Amino acid sequence: MTIKDIQQRLKDIGFDPGPIDGLWGPRTANAILLALDSIQIQYKDQEVVIPSEINEPLTQREKDLHPELLRRWLQAKNTWNKARPDREIFITCSYRSPEEQNNLYAQGRTKSGSIVTNARGGQSIHNYKPALALDVAFYMPGKKTLDWSNKLFEDFAKVFKPLGIEWGGDWKSFIDRPHFQAPGAKWQDLQSGKKYVWN
Ligand SMILES: [Zn+2]
Repeated sequence: MTIKDIQQRLKDIGFDPGPIDGLWGPRTANAILLALDSIQIQYKDQEVVIPSEINEPLTQREKDLHPELLRRWLQAKNTWNKARPDREIFITCSYRSPEEQNNLYAQGRTKSGSIVTNARGGQSIHNYKPALALDVAFYMPGKKTLDWSNKLFEDFAKVFKPLGIEWGGDWKSFIDRPHFQAPGAKWQDLQSGKKYVWN
């Protein structure tokens, strides 16, 4: 099943995954979670959409990472998954196209749903390749649901930050716990064509 297939299927059974564009975003992720919750009761005989079916795009998301971020991520991920096999970590977003960002921006404004971002296309560090940021989530055992406990993000930050990574959970104005990125990287610099240099 491709992301597009999953989005179409979600729409068919009444969950809004956002545009059927084959791009992974918070709306698709949210629709999957809602569908999984209700499928257990209402759609027992239907094929269940499970996160393991989107393994391939998840791998592609790792490939979108800047090599230096990828190296550090793999190290942190391995450390984490050995220590916490009961809460396996994975990337929900590395690169997000400016088009998909605009779709997210429209949510809660010109489209239905609630506001999930204040960034338009190009106004997020996720909108540039190779990706200098990644968002993570944690699977519950069985990989069908996710655990969004603050404590998990805090514990993972203790593993990732010592590798020279900036954590959105430390931000003062907008706390973004699932977000990790190259230290000091800014979308304004990337938009103006300035190349990010790792120290
Ligand atoms: Zn992020």
